[in-house]
This record gives sequence, structure tokens and C-alpha cells, in this order.
Amino acid sequence: MNYIDLHIHSTYSDGIIPPANLVELAHKAGLSAIAITDHDTTAGINEAMAHGQTLGIEVITGVEVSADHNGVPMHILGYNFRQDDHLLQQRLQVLQDARHQRNLKIFANLKGLGFDVDINDIPPTPGQVGRPHIARLLITKKIVKNMDQAFARFLRRGAAAYEQCYRMDAKEVISMIREAGGLPFLAHPAANDRQMKNTPQLLADLKDIGLAGLELYYPTHTPKTFKTLKRLGEELDLLFSGGSDFHGDNKPANKLGGRPNGQPIPYELLAAIKQQG
Ligand code: AMP
Ligand code: FE
Ligand code: FE
Ligand code: ZN
Repeated sequence: MNYIDLHIHSTYSDGIIPPANLVELAHKAGLSAIAITDHDTTAGINEAMAHGQTLGIEVITGVEVSADHNGVPMHILGYNFRQDDHLLQQRLQVLQDARHQRNLKIFANLKGLGFDVDINDIPPTPGQVGRPHIARLLITKKIVKNMDQAFARFLRRGAAAYEQCYRMDAKEVISMIREAGGLPFLAHPAANDRQMKNTPQLLADLKDIGLAGLELYYPTHTPKTFKTLKRLGEELDLLFSGGSDFHGDNKPANKLGGRPNGQPIPYELLAAIKQQG
């Protein structure tokens, strides 16, 4: 059997491993194909593809975009699109600018709380700064002991320095991925709806506006969640994707390839994506 991992973060967003090294790890783990799905950016893909060719592992284009549908926040994964699509890159730039403005606000809040921290104190990164970078700075400055404390005290929704990030409308995200020749998938559908109360309606709504599939294989999906999602996807004639949401040790429980928390992810999913995308 051939296995894949279609949800991986690199140093271009909030992962801590560069794209080329991720490809190497995936190759060592015996995976046949991967997608780097950084938040709101495709900047790490070329490096991954070049290295994939050297090692003989397939790398497809990927991205994870923050979206909103009638007030419900979600992440939408895009696959197998043309990354040089002008409109796609223009929209991603808007998200990146908004993220920077949000970071400035978080730092203003931290200063307002009396902490001597500046956005320029964050070590240079090839990609975008996100809350995990700010959390690590708070650890370095000994303001908190660890990531959990950084999020609990300052960075999570409702915490002292929290600021909301601009989200694109789900419909816009779905069409921009489609227009770039790719397929949009709902990421980790159970993350915001553990009881799966709203997911059936949400999936039907999103399907109406062009959603191609849902992320079925995900480390936190229990066998019951998996079964429910599989049934919902089949009823709506949606495709399935799967990935580990690997971030390096920013999220230590998520292992590349989905093991050992999740099931290995069969290559057939990617074959179906490539057939339609
Ligand atoms: P941002 O994109 O800047 O809003 O940051 C979101 C990222 O922060 C997520 O993708 C996770 O990687 C990370 N994150 C969120 N909550 C926590 C937490 N409690 N502990 C560690 N990392 C977290
Ligand atoms: Fe993340
Ligand atoms: Fe996500
Ligand atoms: Zn992710």
C-alpha cells in the first residue's frame, strides 16, 4: 500500500521544519506523496517540489485558508491548484497583510499589559509570523513557561492580548481555489463541532457553493467521527482527503503521516483528487 499526508505546516507558516526537510522526513517515513499546506501562503511549495523530485516523492500544491461562513470559523484546504494564479496570490496577500496588522495589535496589547516586547524581537522567519511565534517570544522573555501558558494567558480567543484575524468568506475561498484549477476541502471538520451537530448542514451548504471534499483522516478523529464523516461525505458525493496537521513540536501530538494517532492515509484519495482537479 502507498500512503500520503496532505496536511503539513512548514517554517513558511507556523511549523518549525523547512519544506525540504519535511520532504526528507516524509520520504524516510515511507510516504508516497505529500502536500505542504501552510496557513494563507504557498511560499514553501517550490522548495518542497524541487526536493521531492530529487528524492522521488510526489509533492502537490496545497494551502490552508482561514474562512468564515455565516459567522462559523473554519479552515479550508486547497489542493492541486496552479500556484502562480494571479488572483489566488492577490487574495493570499490580503490575508498576509491582515495577519501582520493583527500581530501589531497583539503586540500593542502586550505592551499595554506592561510587557517589554516588540514584533522585531521575533527571530527572522522565511514566512509569516503567527501566534506560535509570539508564544515562543513570550517563553524566551520568561513571561510564560510554555506554549500552553502563552495561549491560555495571552493568545487564545478571549485571553488578555487576543485579537481576531480577518477571515475570508468561505464562498470566496472556495471560488479562488477553484478558479486556480484546484479543489477545496473542509479541514478537520470535527475541530469546532465535536458532537457533529452542525456539520451535516455546513457540509451541504458548502457543497452548494463549490466544496469538493472533506478531510476524513485526521489525528483527532475518533473511529465514530470517521464513520460519521465518511457517511456524510458519501451522501453528498464529496471527495475525501487526509493529513496529520504536522507542525513539528509546535503540536507534538501530530506525527507526520498520521501515525500513531490516526490511521495511515491511502494514496487512492490523492488519485481521486488528481482525477477531478
Ligand atoms: P494564528 O494562525 O496566528 O491564529 O495561530 C494559530 C496557530 O496557533 C494554530 O495553527 C496552532 O498551530 C497554534 N495554536 C493554537 N492554539 C494553541 C495552543 N493552545 N497551544 C499551542 N499552539 C496553539
Ligand atoms: Fe497551525
Ligand atoms: Fe487548521
Ligand atoms: Zn493546519
